[in-house]
Order: sequence, then C-alpha cells, then structure tokens
Amino acid sequence: MKLLSTFAASSHDLATLQLFRDADTASAAALLADCPVMLAAPGEVVSDPAVPRLVIVLRGALADATGDGATTKILPGESTGEQSVLDGETDLSGLAALEESELLLVDADLAWRLIEEADGVARNLLRLLSFRIRAASMQLRRRQKLGEFYRQLSLNDGLTGLYNRAWLNDVLPRLVATAHATRAPLSLVMLDLDRFKQFNDHHGHLQGDSALRIAAHVLAGALRPTDFAVRYGGEELMVILPDTPGPVAAGVAERLCERMREAIVFDDMRLPLPHVTASFGVASLQESQGDHALIAAADGALYRAKAAGRDRVVVASGA
Ligand code: GH3
Ligand code: MG
Ligand code: MG
Repeated sequence: MKLLSTFAASSHDLATLQLFRDADTASAAALLADCPVMLAAPGEVVSDPAVPRLVIVLRGALADATGDGATTKILPGESTGEQSVLDGETDLSGLAALEESELLLVDADLAWRLIEEADGVARNLLRLLSFRIRAASMQLRRRQKLGEFYRQLSLNDGLTGLYNRAWLNDVLPRLVATAHATRAPLSLVMLDLDRFKQFNDHHGHLQGDSALRIAAHVLAGALRPTDFAVRYGGEELMVILPDTPGPVAAGVAERLCERMREAIVFDDMRLPLPHVTASFGVASLQESQGDHALIAAADGALYRAKAAGRDRVVVASGA
C-alpha cells in the first residue's frame, strides 16, 4: 500500500462514514488528523496479521474472506477490524482490495481514544457489532438448514423419495436393538416388482421409472406415520413396521399387494389392470435375531412368493 496523505490533508467527510454518523465529528476529526490514508492496488492484501487496527474504506471496495469460504464486500463508508481492536486479537482473515481503494487505517490505541472521547462513536460501534452478530447467526442458521437439506438428500432415494440403503443401514440396527430391549414386536416386508425387466423392455425405461415411483407412492400412502418405506435396491422395496406383530404385518402386506395390483401406471385407460404387481415376503423379529437375519428371513419369504407364481404374500415361518 502507498501512503497518500494524512486524514487531515485528505478531502473526506467524516459524517459519511458509518462509524461517525451523528457522532461528534469535530473531536473525531481532531483525533484522526494524523492518521494515514493509504492507496491499495486492485488485489492487494490489506490485512496485517500482526496489527489489530480499524480499516475504513474511503473509496473503492475490499473483500473480507472469513476463512470458511464466504466473503463479505466492504464498501465506501464501511469499516472492518472493529473486533480486533476491541479484543486485541488480530484478524487472520484475508482482507484484499477488490479495486483501487483509499483506506483510512486507525490503530487500536487511536480507535480506543475515539470510542472514549468522540461522542457517538461507541454507540455506532455497538450498533455495527450487533448487526454483524445478527448477520453471522443468520448465516449460521442458513448453513444448518442447508446441512440438514443435504443430509436428507443423502438418506433419500432420488427417484422414489423413499429412504435409501444408507438410511436403512443406519436405522434398522437401532430399531432392532430397541425392539429387543423393549420386547416390542418389529416386522419387515420386502417386496420386489414382478417381471420388471420385461416391463422395461416393453414400455421403456422411463415408463419403468414411473412405475417405480407409483409403487413407492402406494407404499407411502398406505403406511402409518410410524412405519418406514425404503428403496432397498433396483426394484426391491422394503417396509419396516415397528410395534407390529407378524399376523398384522401379513395383513398390511396383503393390502399393499392389492393396492399395487390396482395402481394406475399408464394414463391410457385402455390398458387393462394390473399394470404392475409385486411379490411380498414378511418376517418378524425373532428372539436374539439381528438385522441381517431379519432381512434374510423376509427375503427368503419373498423368494418363495416369486416361486409360487408372484403377485402374492408369503410369511416367513415363525413370523
Ligand atoms: P422377477 O419377477 O423375478 O422379480 O423378475 P424381474 O424382471 O423383475 O427381475 P430381474 O431382477 O431380472 O430384473 C429387475 C429389473 O428391474 C431389471 C432392471 O432394469 C429393473 N430396474 C431396476 N432398477 C430400475 C430403475 O431404477 N428404473 C427402471 N426403469 N428399471 C429398473
Ligand atoms: Mg423383480
Ligand atoms: Mg429384483
């Protein structure tokens, strides 16, 4: 940075600067008289990690990189470095000129004298800091929301909106543990769309996707809020029914099987129902059974439903 002049010799009006608005500008001007006004070239780094100081933009613009990828633009009349002056901690964030800029640099001692001796500066400073805290916490809330959004995204299947395998791997072991600990029943329904390869071959992959979405919709629409529907793999879906004994789960599966048969996949009403069917396997958690064994039991029952002719429900023995 190049020294342009002292503040007294420059033509800038204190009243246009945020920190001095409605303040005792006469005292402030006297205190700032010998303060350096510097010229920063575009791109030039302005922050000095060794010196806590106030940087006031008189002309041009600065970019304040806060270290987490976000940048704040500091425009004429605005300032930065207030916090470093107040707590004596130097600001390590990168402050750089976005364009040719004129800057008033106020070191910490002088900044304190302004706070103490120029009426109104302390009030402006408090206002500024309060605004910054509010902006920072708003940004934090936005980030938290965004984080939650991405977390949801990573646990849901993009095509069907159902929970995905990652979600299942995380949640099912916990549901199993809770069921064992509370001696509550827990049932699992595995279902697989019937002859879906053939469906794709006949109607195209897009129509296949649409059938999958409708199958997911059938599940989601038929379950209680405490149940979960998961896309286990390709055209294999799963329903988890907490607090539900085997015979009740079998009834739920029968209802789902029927609704799947009656679901309308094609807008063309001339095409006879069923458009898609699915085969179902039902299993209930047995004593000291783990989550893998429970899935295997439901899968075994599903396999038998396929072998027996599809579009039906088979309940695992013991469930
Ligand atoms: P089965 O009745 O024995 O289950 O026969 P199937 O044809 O359904 O079984 P198979 O495992 O041979 O084929 C599954 C088909 O599911 C093949 C695959 O292309 C299709 N599939 C899997 N995921 C998707 C998807 O996301 N979209 C579409 N359109 N098709 C999918
Ligand atoms: Mg299939
Ligand atoms: Mg399959």
